[in-house]
Amino acid sequence: MHDHRKLGRELDLFDTDPLIGAGLPYWLPDGAAVRHALEEYIRAAERRAGYRHVFSPVLGKRELYEISGHWSHYSEDMFPPMDLGGEQVVLRPSLCPHHALIYRSRPHSYRELPLRMAELGGMYRSELSGVLGGLTRVRAIQLNDGHIFCTPDQVADEARGALELIDRAYAALGITAARYRLSLPGAGGKYVADPALWERSAALLTEVLDASGVPYEAVEGEAAFYGPKIDVQVADSAGREATLSTVQVDFHQPERFGLQYTGPDGQKHRPVMVHRAVIGSMERVVAHLIELHGGAFPAWLAPTQLAVLPLTGAEVPRAEAFVQRCLDRGLRAEAVGPEHGTLGARIRAARLVPYQAVIGPREAAGDLIALRLRDGRRPDPLPAEEVFRRVGALVGAHNTALWDAP
Ligand SMILES: [Zn+2]
Repeated sequence: MHDHRKLGRELDLFDTDPLIGAGLPYWLPDGAAVRHALEEYIRAAERRAGYRHVFSPVLGKRELYEISGHWSHYSEDMFPPMDLGGEQVVLRPSLCPHHALIYRSRPHSYRELPLRMAELGGMYRSELSGVLGGLTRVRAIQLNDGHIFCTPDQVADEARGALELIDRAYAALGITAARYRLSLPGAGGKYVADPALWERSAALLTEVLDASGVPYEAVEGEAAFYGPKIDVQVADSAGREATLSTVQVDFHQPERFGLQYTGPDGQKHRPVMVHRAVIGSMERVVAHLIELHGGAFPAWLAPTQLAVLPLTGAEVPRAEAFVQRCLDRGLRAEAVGPEHGTLGARIRAARLVPYQAVIGPREAAGDLIALRLRDGRRPDPLPAEEVFRRVGALVGAHNTALWDAP
């Protein structure tokens, strides 16, 4: 495996600047292309799974986090509050309180539940500068977050649905989970007190894990302060584990925010919140993908999907026209002309690009494309439209294969 910090810089994916600060990486165009592909993938997957997306601000008043419990259980990880004309405003440590308020802003009937709300949004953590680095220890996090407001009876199905989304996403990304962990409270931690609700949540998650058939371990001391969770762990190049995806059951925040729905009996009832992150934070998932694939991303994620290499200056206009046709079809393509070196050197420089199209006099004359695949295969030359169709189908299906048998 590779070190994502080194490779991320070499491949021009992301970088940092001391003037912006430690733990605050910026994304270069190639890194941003990978991230956009991920964001588009997960938003579409969530829409298919019945989620509606929202946007909420990255700031909130201190009182909001006092109500949610973050202030008393999590404040050492939060940025200090900013004084604004007598009010205190903080960078949010999580999206949950905002989503609870969005839910609370409208009346809800049991017929609307489960109500699935998602947002790919920013949250902030005041990590000490000594531990910061790359994309894995950062102070600004873009999380693929989502909250399901549901009845207690719906929790198990919703948790199962979230695990299925995680499963499908991992298949598309080529990721294998290192292990599933049932994270329970431990002695001495800062947790909200209500032993009966903790037991109920842990029992629900245990039931979901048992039914899913995946092997898992229960670990004490890893729960969120408001409830137990299923953590999907991935391992980095040194074998160190990190949590990428989570599913959590929370009876606490609905209580704190006074969330309600009207039941079939006409009475007010309390919903449960299921918190879940499918592909985790953009920072952590991209760090993991860089290390896992060594920069040779699945075609649908690759910053450049097709490198178009004109043999000589005479084929440059033809190569540029082909690039434009790729771009028109939503494929990321780039022409790399003879000013960048010999054909051999350009092929080597594009070795991480899934598809290379060499345009010689024969291809230029016949509108045929001879592809070289990243894995060394050389399919027979095909009409350009057939190349778009084949590559477009694999990319559109988020397939990790580079080529299908005809
Ligand atoms: Zn949450």
